[in-house]
Amino acid sequence: MNNNSKVLALKYRPQNFDDLIGQEVVAETITNSIKADKIPNAYLFTGIRGVGKTTIARIVAKSLNCSNAIENKCKIECNNCDAITNSSHIDVLEMDAASKTGVDDVRDLIEFSRYGPTSAKYKVFIIDEVHMLSKQAFNALLKTLEEPPEYLKFIFATTEIKKIPVTVVSRCQRFDLSRIKSSELFEYLKKIKDKENGKVSDEALKLIVKISEGSVRDALSLLDRGLLSLKENTELDLNAAQKIFGYFDKSQLIDLFELILKGEETKVIKIYRKIYDQGVEPKVFINDFLELLYYFKNINSLTLESTNFSLNDEEFLKIKDISNQINTEVIILFWQFAIFSLEELDIVANQHLSIEMFLIRLIHLKSTKSKKEFINNLENKNSESSIVQKEIKIENNVKTVDQIKNITQQEKKKIEIKTEIKEMDKNLINSFDDLLNICLEKKEIKLKYELEKNVNLVKFEKNRIEISFNDNLDKDFVKDLSSKLFEWTNERWIITFSKSKGDMSIKEKQKSKKDELINEVKNSETYKTVIKKFPDAELVDIKLNTKED
Ligand SMILES: [Zn+2]
Repeated sequence: MNNNSKVLALKYRPQNFDDLIGQEVVAETITNSIKADKIPNAYLFTGIRGVGKTTIARIVAKSLNCSNAIENKCKIECNNCDAITNSSHIDVLEMDAASKTGVDDVRDLIEFSRYGPTSAKYKVFIIDEVHMLSKQAFNALLKTLEEPPEYLKFIFATTEIKKIPVTVVSRCQRFDLSRIKSSELFEYLKKIKDKENGKVSDEALKLIVKISEGSVRDALSLLDRGLLSLKENTELDLNAAQKIFGYFDKSQLIDLFELILKGEETKVIKIYRKIYDQGVEPKVFINDFLELLYYFKNINSLTLESTNFSLNDEEFLKIKDISNQINTEVIILFWQFAIFSLEELDIVANQHLSIEMFLIRLIHLKSTKSKKEFINNLENKNSESSIVQKEIKIENNVKTVDQIKNITQQEKKKIEIKTEIKEMDKNLINSFDDLLNICLEKKEIKLKYELEKNVNLVKFEKNRIEISFNDNLDKDFVKDLSSKLFEWTNERWIITFSKSKGDMSIKEKQKSKKDELINEVKNSETYKTVIKKFPDAELVDIKLNTKED
């Protein structure tokens, strides 16, 4: 580990409850209980790494054993506090359960507890990462924990409370240490920076706050690293900080997102390569992209503060502005796609290329296919069948587009996206006729042929088709139809075979209609006259004049 990075964290390690940031309630509760002499046998501190668990454990040990006990906040150095700070107090034993997990280690500890304290009021056992203890070790510990001697106090710290047996937890006074609030951590870092005479911009400090995710220790380490990487008399600004910590400018990502929506492939790739050149890992990139999608979706219910300084003012406003022009469906689509690509990164050799493909796919996901579909819709407008349906579709698009003002580019985009989603319209197929029409429209001629010739409809319901069929039916018919239906409606359809005969097939219907007509004509006077004159003639077909019919 980099020794330099530990300097600030050690130098500014809180030595008493007053130094502690972000844990006021915990500090007050413990102080009061010590003042009132209502000290529990065991304390248990839980929370994320770097939030101050072991620091608090030591402060509690000091508060219990400070020679100036009255205030429990040793302002004037005393021997006890000094020794505890240096981990050299004879009555305060610190153990890291991560390295000593066995029952023997706990036995040593218990053996040590047989005798009263030498120089302080209490013997204190601090066990860090206590969840790492073995089952037997916990059992050995439990006996002492149940009935400890007056002079013995336990302080446990853990990141994983669930791994500690309930029997142990229930014998402790438990404190859940919360993450340090972003604004609090920011103010704290600012103070430290001033004490160190470091030149760091507020934006850079906010970046540190974001990366450290509420851990004071991490934040101090980062600040340290930032200050050490600086040349003399320069300021650590956002740009430099991003470089040092391997983070890239969110505004680039926002630009990238905007360009994806506009379908500017070349520019998108150019920006991504720039980001890549800054040393951003593909996984970090996708995760940041996901985060951005979240903001695009939820920005209206967020404040700048609640983004944990993930965004600066300018970015916040920009996202707010763009977000009003994006459909939720697109965000969801992109989200699913990004998650999918994140998984993909584990199986590809060149992750960098995978990201480029991911971005290109996003662009085409929303444009190419849907553009074609939209043009098709317009062209087919006057042709047969579902004209009304299609007109409504287009009308809807225009309506939605009308709601967005000023930006022509956006309007175009909206239409494209809208069309694609409409394409998956679940109510597209409501009858057997609809099904035939869509087969024609999608040029599934074989399927249409089978449906017309070899299938008798028994029952048509939403997502369920019951049919009977003749011997000529293609063996892949059900499989083909199911997959096409899924493709067209994005829903699963169940196709069942019925024993009942069902309707006549379309071809049968046509044939019987024709037979009927032939019979009708055969009974007409015209036919009888013709037959009289040409006895050898035979009526084979009838062409209908559609207008009259
Ligand atoms: Zn003291």
